[in-house]
Amino acid sequence: MLKSRYKIKYKRILLKISGEALLGDKRYNIDPEIVNYIATEISEIHKLGVAVMIVIGGGNIIRGGSSSDNGIDRVTADYMGMLATVINALALQNAIEKLNITTRVLSAIEAPKIAEPFIKRRADRHLEKGRIVIFAGGTGNPYFSTDMAAALRASELNADVILKATKVDGVYSADPHKFEKARFYNSLTYLDVINKKLKVMDLTAISLCMENNIPIIVFNLLKKNALKNIVIGKKIGTIIASHEL
Ligand code: UDP
Repeated sequence: MLKSRYKIKYKRILLKISGEALLGDKRYNIDPEIVNYIATEISEIHKLGVAVMIVIGGGNIIRGGSSSDNGIDRVTADYMGMLATVINALALQNAIEKLNITTRVLSAIEAPKIAEPFIKRRADRHLEKGRIVIFAGGTGNPYFSTDMAAALRASELNADVILKATKVDGVYSADPHKFEKARFYNSLTYLDVINKKLKVMDLTAISLCMENNIPIIVFNLLKKNALKNIVIGKKIGTIIASHEL
């Protein structure tokens, strides 16, 4: 690993990427171009010596809640959703490894032919060795989300921050694509997010971050170098913490 000429603010990060982010301009499935772009952005922070953990969602393939509305039993639909995250994890691993960075997929749903089981100590060891770790299978439990998995893994593995990638610049008072006058927040507290019912993460995930004092930065992954700029301490996106920053 190269010694960085930048001062690194966040040395161990957990990047949460939704399944939808992998859609790019497609309506379903995975857009290889966008996956390659994301992999390159991640490689830039790995080069700086940052320990990178990733939780990937599955919403581009299936979401438990909406599928159960369409007649699939909720628990089955949730397991289908968790499997979708494994598919996305493999796509991302493939793209990152093309950039010659060793990557391990650790899954909460056992799939030994393609991923290691999630074991905290193993994840730590991979990070110590400079490998990127992708957590698949969410928490391994139905009725949860991959945001919850991000909060959980960030807590267990002592991440300095959760970087929640979105297609907009941060948190707004309303959907900025629909409401021109939506207010942008530079900084929020966990309680603001809960009380204002802002759609950042689900309540269980936010509560776990609050309990363990893990800041969350919501940012636009489609803006080139945003990820790198965040880890070197530039103020980008919306930061959520115990007090306004
Ligand atoms: N899921 C689950 N338990 C988890 C994580 C995910 O049951 O711990 C299921 C759930 O059905 C969810 C789907 O997997 O809708 C895909 O995850 P998510 O919706 O969080 O993906 P994202 O919105 O990030 O793409």
